[in-house]
Amino acid sequence: MSTLPDMALSAGASDFIDDAKLCALLKLPPPDAAEVSDVLAKSLTKQPLTVAEVAALLRCTDPAQHEQIFETARQLKRDVYGNRIVLFAPLYVGNHCMNDCQYCAFRRSNPDVERQSLTDADVRAEVEALEREGHKRIILVFGEHPQYSPEFIARTVHTVYETRNGQGEIRRVNINAAPLDEAGYKVVHQAGIGTFQVFQETYHHATYARYHPANTRKGDYLYRLDALSRAQRAGIDDVGIGALFGLYDWRFEVLALVEHGLYLQQRFGVGPHTISFPRIQQALGVDLDEQYIVSDYDFKRLVATLRLAVPYTGLILTARESPEIRREVLGFGVSQIDAGTRIELGGYSRRTNAQCPVREQFRIADMRSLDDVMRELIEDEYLPSFCTACYRLGRTGEHFMEFAIPGFIQNLCTPNALTTLMEYLIDYASPATRAVGVKIIERELEKIPQAALREKVKQRLRQIQETDARDLYF
Ligand code: SAM
Ligand code: SF4
Repeated sequence: MSTLPDMALSAGASDFIDDAKLCALLKLPPPDAAEVSDVLAKSLTKQPLTVAEVAALLRCTDPAQHEQIFETARQLKRDVYGNRIVLFAPLYVGNHCMNDCQYCAFRRSNPDVERQSLTDADVRAEVEALEREGHKRIILVFGEHPQYSPEFIARTVHTVYETRNGQGEIRRVNINAAPLDEAGYKVVHQAGIGTFQVFQETYHHATYARYHPANTRKGDYLYRLDALSRAQRAGIDDVGIGALFGLYDWRFEVLALVEHGLYLQQRFGVGPHTISFPRIQQALGVDLDEQYIVSDYDFKRLVATLRLAVPYTGLILTARESPEIRREVLGFGVSQIDAGTRIELGGYSRRTNAQCPVREQFRIADMRSLDDVMRELIEDEYLPSFCTACYRLGRTGEHFMEFAIPGFIQNLCTPNALTTLMEYLIDYASPATRAVGVKIIERELEKIPQAALREKVKQRLRQIQETDARDLYF
């Protein structure tokens, strides 16, 4: 694999991001009250918004309108997702990298970072540590390097699935790695992955060029923009997009994420499964450019607007954010969070409470344990879920009917959240978390309207409590 961009790689790819069009939409005057109400009313009918409608929300300057947006996002989140929050953990496998992204500690020009790739034995040790804490879903993260070939990624996925620890097992492995070619995606797909994520970082062409030197693989904007289209063509219908917020105007990036989602939907009949919106953090040897740093207030606007724009797309919030911010924006429509996160190589099997800048990509702000996060979620009346049923039953892509089938959430997602939460409470939780967890299970059970289903769920919960039966998904 050459370190240089090969222009042939992006041949035939379509550049569907028109900077001038998106900037022009953001320069229009702020919308009047009627226009805002119309857009919000449309999103409450659970229809995806157009780019122009999202731009209208982003042009609102009146704090009262922002409040209206926050409140509508909260309502939509309750209507579509209920109170479930899915939990996962990132696992960094290797930090060698041939790119030179100016915001990242792993960039090749950084001599101070300690480079490492986990061996199979290291991966097993990390996974066992994650399983001991109760995790069931992880995302494997890689730098871009010839070492991290599709075959290497696939082997790592197999190692993760094969590693068991008592009742512990990882049931879903997602990937965040460099874009692959179609043949590479096929190899990784066959290993049984969940979502393949690639973040565009910034969709703004000139800014992209500034942060990703032209003499690197990642310097090819179009190859990266086309990454998840290639994944779709290779048969991966579960993809995650994202932008790194803080490189350019956050409102532009939100519009571009929406544009990207619409493009995938139109082109492949399946939109992205998830959108990630990491805010840039301090990293070893990185001088943050203050100009586009996103304030906490704008971050709230960003999350709420995305929720309204793409009602059926999962939104992922990570431990880059502090517990306080996480707690606040969860209500606007986040569907997945990581917890108990360590991002330094080997950080789970050698867990400490300190971060180690020479071994991590950036600083995180939420170092709490999974158990502490679980307890807070439950006390705030969320229903934590480790459910992995859909992708294991082939319910992905256009077959992913979670929202299209009436009663899907009620009949499948909530029961699966309850059984996976019960597993956690029995096998891993602290007494304090178990005490609040049992109560929320009782409350949620009573909300299941059909007596027969309620009985069936109760029976499975008893099975989990009284026997070694696990993984009883609907
Ligand atoms: N190396 C692969 C790539 O760049 O696509 C894998 C992803 S990288 C290990 C994971 C993501 O972390 C990047 O896509 C980027 O959005 C994010 N990231 C990089 N530097 C960051 C920083 N200083 N603060 C927050 N997020 C950062
Ligand atoms: Fe490498 Fe990814 Fe970091 Fe860029 S963001 S330097 S590609 S690890």
